[in-house]
Amino acid sequence: MLSSPDIGPLEQEYVLAALRSGWVAPIGPDLDAFERELAERTGVAHAVALSSGTAALHLALLGVGVGPGDVVVVPTLTFAATANAVVYTGATPYFVDCDPATGNLDPDLLGAALAGLRRDSTPVGAVLTVDLFGLCADYDRVLPMCERYGVPVIEDAAEALGADHRGRPAGSFGQAAALSFNGNKIMTTSGGGMLLTAHAALADRARYLATQARLPVPHYEHTDIGYNYRLSNVLAALGRAQLCRLDEMIARRRDLRRRYGKLFAGLEGVRILGDSDGTNAWLTPVVADPEEAGWSTTELAAHLTAARIETRPIWKPMHLQPVFAGRPGLLSGAAERLFDTGLILPSGSSLGEEQIAHVTAAITEFLDDHA
Ligand SMILES: *Cc1c(COP(=O)(O)O)cnc(C)c1O
Repeated sequence: MLSSPDIGPLEQEYVLAALRSGWVAPIGPDLDAFERELAERTGVAHAVALSSGTAALHLALLGVGVGPGDVVVVPTLTFAATANAVVYTGATPYFVDCDPATGNLDPDLLGAALAGLRRDSTPVGAVLTVDLFGLCADYDRVLPMCERYGVPVIEDAAEALGADHRGRPAGSFGQAAALSFNGNKIMTTSGGGMLLTAHAALADRARYLATQARLPVPHYEHTDIGYNYRLSNVLAALGRAQLCRLDEMIARRRDLRRRYGKLFAGLEGVRILGDSDGTNAWLTPVVADPEEAGWSTTELAAHLTAARIETRPIWKPMHLQPVFAGRPGLLSGAAERLFDTGLILPSGSSLGEEQIAHVTAAITEFLDDHA
């Protein structure tokens, strides 16, 4: 309900055609076409289809040389996969807080973090930006700053396919970017991901590592530890059908966000997080300051749960996660505040008019009760 897969006859047609063609495992023409089509869509030269967005992040980090002894700057306000991928490489995540207006990496704090790490002679392997809930990070400020410190940028665009930053597509920033086609994302292959990069050598290396690092000889020679990270041809066919419908699905999510915006418009201390032109509107979080609004998002969540409507808090910041306790970072409290005062509303493009009417009626009822 929060963000369910949006699957119809076109998807059935594409997957059946792939099955009937005999290209079931592992590679095939749909896989090649899916990579080409996404490279075209995002304006990036090379695309490697993988089994998940997390795999794409892992290979992107390896591709810029991140390894044991490095720290990688990661926004604390993200989904755990961002930080997990850093740990897979043997590097340490360094958590930096967010801009309270957007939830994305705070460029001022990033600058302070990079300066501090340089002072301590800590090797910084990469800055891993996240385009939170479908809104691109502030690349106008982040990219020049990282360039000044000579640190490569990796873009976690798992939530942001179809978004843009001043006309430039999400997935085209940094040395490499990761997309996700998990079941809850803006489009899905049931599970899958893509690495995007302008660098042919990085793409080749990722493709090689994703297929068990087999050297091209008949007996399979190995000089590296590889991974089994490739997407299958059948799932790529599903992805191609979804890509045909991406703009229509984004339009539905944006429309839903506009309707939520109208419900909460003019209320003191209440806003839609990251409400900006370039967003793909993957998920719509509402943020309410309980002092100013006179109600909390916890109360709103309880009201919606009673009406059998699924909501979810904003991601719990990584520095508060038990598994990352004690990791270094630079924090302002902004992510924690958003976690305490934000709520993700049902945002899926497969929501029907009747379901949307039910959700908006329940929100209106709550707001009338708290007016
Ligand atoms: C979903 C997500 C991922 C992981 O993608 P998977 O395809 O599920 O592995 C990584 N980063 C962020 C920010 C995500 O939302």
